[in-house]
Amino acid sequence: MQQSIINNTKAQGFPQRLRAVLFDMDGVLYNSMPYHAIAWNKAMAQFGYDLPEEEVYMHEGRTGTSTVNLVSLREHGTEVSEERVAEIYKVKSDLFNQFPPAEPMPGALSLLRQLKEQGLMILIVTGSGQCSLLDKLNCDYPGIFRRELMVTAFDVKYGKPNPEPYLMGMQKGGLQPHECIVVENAPLGVHAAKAAGIFTIAVNTGPLPDKALLDEGADLLFPSMQALSDAWGELSVALDKQTKDI
Ligand code: MG
Repeated sequence: MQQSIINNTKAQGFPQRLRAVLFDMDGVLYNSMPYHAIAWNKAMAQFGYDLPEEEVYMHEGRTGTSTVNLVSLREHGTEVSEERVAEIYKVKSDLFNQFPPAEPMPGALSLLRQLKEQGLMILIVTGSGQCSLLDKLNCDYPGIFRRELMVTAFDVKYGKPNPEPYLMGMQKGGLQPHECIVVENAPLGVHAAKAAGIFTIAVNTGPLPDKALLDEGADLLFPSMQALSDAWGELSVALDKQTKDI
C-alpha cells in the first residue's frame, strides 16, 4: 500500500505545486451521511416518493432541488414546483435536525492539523446549506476554517456533479487545478472535482462499493479519513520529491 502511493503519484498527475486542499464536508469531515439518508428517505416517503436510503449516497452532493426532481421525474414523469421542493426540503431538514449533531469523522482533525502545520490552504466545498455551519466547524475544528474559503449551498447555482462548486473554491483561493487536491466521499463529488481538473482523493466512508468512486475518476482511494491521515506523511514526501524533480 505504502509503495503503491508513491509509485502512482507520477502516473496519475499528482499536483505539481500543492498549495491547497479542498474538503467536501458530509461524509468527509462529519459522519453525517447516515442521518441524511434516513431523513431523505422519510421526507420523500411523506410526499409519496420512494428514495431508498442507499440511493441517497449515490445522489450525495446534489442540490435538494436536483434530488427531488430526479426522483419525481422517475416516479411521476414530471418535475415539481419550487414551492413543493422547498416544502419537501424543509421536512427533510427538520427530520435531519432531530438527530444528535453529527460526530466529526475520526482522523479528520489529525489530517487538518498536519495540513495546517505545512502551511497549506484549507477550503470547504459543500452542497450543505446549514446556516450554523461555520460555528459548528469552528467548534469541532478550531482555527482551521475561514468563511471566505468556504463554498456552500448558498454560493452555487448548479452544485455537484457540475464542476461549479470546485471552480468557485479555486477562485476563492486564487488557485489553479495543479495546485490543489480534493478530498471527497461521494461519486458525484468526485465527478465534480475531476471535471474541475483537480487531483482527487476519495475516502469511502459509506456503504457504496469502491468502484462507484473509482468509476468517477478518483485518483487515490482510502477506506477512511483515518487511513488518509495516517498516509499523509508519505504522500507529502512524494509531493516534495516530485516538486524538486521538475
Ligand atoms: Mg460528501
